[in-house]
Amino acid sequence: MKPAVIVIDMLKEFVYGRLRSPQAQEIIPVIKRIIDHAHNRDIPVIYVADRHFPVDHELKVWGVHALHDSSESEIIDELKPGSKDYVLYKRSYSGFRDTGLDMLLRDLGVDTVVLTGIHTHICVLHTAWDAFYHGYNILVVRDGVAAFSREDHEYALKYMEKVYGAKIVESGEVLKLLEGSMKD
Ligand code: ZN
Repeated sequence: MKPAVIVIDMLKEFVYGRLRSPQAQEIIPVIKRIIDHAHNRDIPVIYVADRHFPVDHELKVWGVHALHDSSESEIIDELKPGSKDYVLYKRSYSGFRDTGLDMLLRDLGVDTVVLTGIHTHICVLHTAWDAFYHGYNILVVRDGVAAFSREDHEYALKYMEKVYGAKIVESGEVLKLLEGSMKD
């Protein structure tokens, strides 16, 4: 297994702003542990982050959020990317759409994406769909993703498991799997 940790939309908008997840604060330390673990083992960490222009189609659904020139589109201080991390910007739900993520994963030799972040049923789910489409194995960290509600969260996890063959795993298990990946 050649994994990469994908951190989706851990931005001020979705953690502290109007479109925040009530569980956002709980997943911060979980994601931090996974990132630290990855850094110590030279596993790539890739952030994908909403950075909208006012004309973006998606704003018709959700209203104005995470504009490119606003503080809401900044990654939260608690999870600031390090110098070796990758940061890609997106203008719609999926971390793959027009961001160069697939090319980056291929250049890194990655075959498995470990999905963390917000929201389980929107950007995480659409990133999982594109990961499936591009042929990657998918791990979704159950306690490292969050939605607007528990129902949205649980529904999306079930959907990704059934439809994309994603493995839904607890963070403790992910840490062990990342450990094992170094032996490949
Ligand atoms: Zn957005």
